[in-house]
Amino acid sequence: MSHSPHFSEPPKKHLGQHFLHERGIIDGIVRAVSPKPGDRLVEIGPGQGAITFPLLDAHGELTVVEFDRDLIAPLTEAAKSHGALHIIHRDVLAVDFTALAADGASLRLVGNLPYNLSSPILFHVLEHADVVRDMTFMLQKEVVDRMAAAPGSKVYGRLSVMLQAYCHVTPLFDVPPAAFRPPPKVDSAVVRLVPRAADAIGIDDAKVFADVVRDAFGQRRKTLRNALSRQCDAALIEAAKVRPDARAEQLPVADFVRLSNAIAASRA
Ligand code: SAM
Repeated sequence: MSHSPHFSEPPKKHLGQHFLHERGIIDGIVRAVSPKPGDRLVEIGPGQGAITFPLLDAHGELTVVEFDRDLIAPLTEAAKSHGALHIIHRDVLAVDFTALAADGASLRLVGNLPYNLSSPILFHVLEHADVVRDMTFMLQKEVVDRMAAAPGSKVYGRLSVMLQAYCHVTPLFDVPPAAFRPPPKVDSAVVRLVPRAADAIGIDDAKVFADVVRDAFGQRRKTLRNALSRQCDAALIEAAKVRPDARAEQLPVADFVRLSNAIAASRA
């Protein structure tokens, strides 16, 4: 839709605006979503509608969340020939996704996210993970690599553990800078996230879990015994069947869950 005369504003850097124009990539995203009748689709950051209008053509109805006031009128106008577009003009970090699913729907989220906000958006959405069926997001490739990394990998870290604890993470395909206007400085990738069922996650206290993961990786070079000295002693780590002299970067997600549950239980 970048040819539309209605979208006359230049891209805004502070809003992370890099508009997709490569047909093949746009089609790949629509195929990855493959909307089925009855799906409740929500796009974060529709911009000039590169993904929005093909999705609308495929599905007939779509909710979008856009912060840039200059895009609201052109989106409304251009949508008329495509289908029912519900526009929420708001900062996505202030959107209550649970309210969007108040009628019992489960949400399918899509977005070429503003890269400067991708982590806050991911963590905000995860707070509503119980109403989200899946997410198909374009992110910096480096972020997708970190999200999907396995223990022992150089990029395995806090983001890997937090995401994998709550979601199945599947990288789908890479996207070069030339697919966007203006091109970003970094490579991008599309990833699918599917929230795990609440009873499969097994985390007893989400705050303790997040604190343990943060502290463990905050002191990456230290052993768990030292990195977590504010949280617990070595005996408790051992009782959770985790080696106190291991380092966070070697620890599987399930070990973080066991360890944080043991710490939460010791405080109860
Ligand atoms: N989906 C379009 C595309 O692929 O061409 C635009 C993607 S662009 C990378 C990111 C979009 O997110 C922009 O439209 C930008 O205005 C919007 N955006 C930035 N910050 C936002 C926020 N806090 N809440 C909602 N939308 C935001």
